[in-house]
Amino acid sequence: MSDNIKPIGGSWGAAECDRAWQELRDWLGPSRACVWTQSEYDLWETDCGNAFQLNDGGPHDNDMAICCYCGGALVEQAYEDVRDDDEE
Ligand SMILES: [Zn+2]
Repeated sequence: MSDNIKPIGGSWGAAECDRAWQELRDWLGPSRACVWTQSEYDLWETDCGNAFQLNDGGPHDNDMAICCYCGGALVEQAYEDVRDDDEE
């Protein structure tokens, strides 16, 4: 097996995931990607100014590959990735 292939999960930190998303967005082009940011447990706000509620899991968990509003490639930004320390 090639050393260039990294396993999914496990070895990637938040910074590496961030960079990977950024590269994906650059590759897709600014007008072709739509980032869905999880703002609450089941509410996702879209780059194109809409919001979508999912009952279970994220957009990718629900086999959503493109934004249903603007047609851009759906990039998922989960709540856990964007929040600061938020201990109760
Ligand atoms: Zn969109």
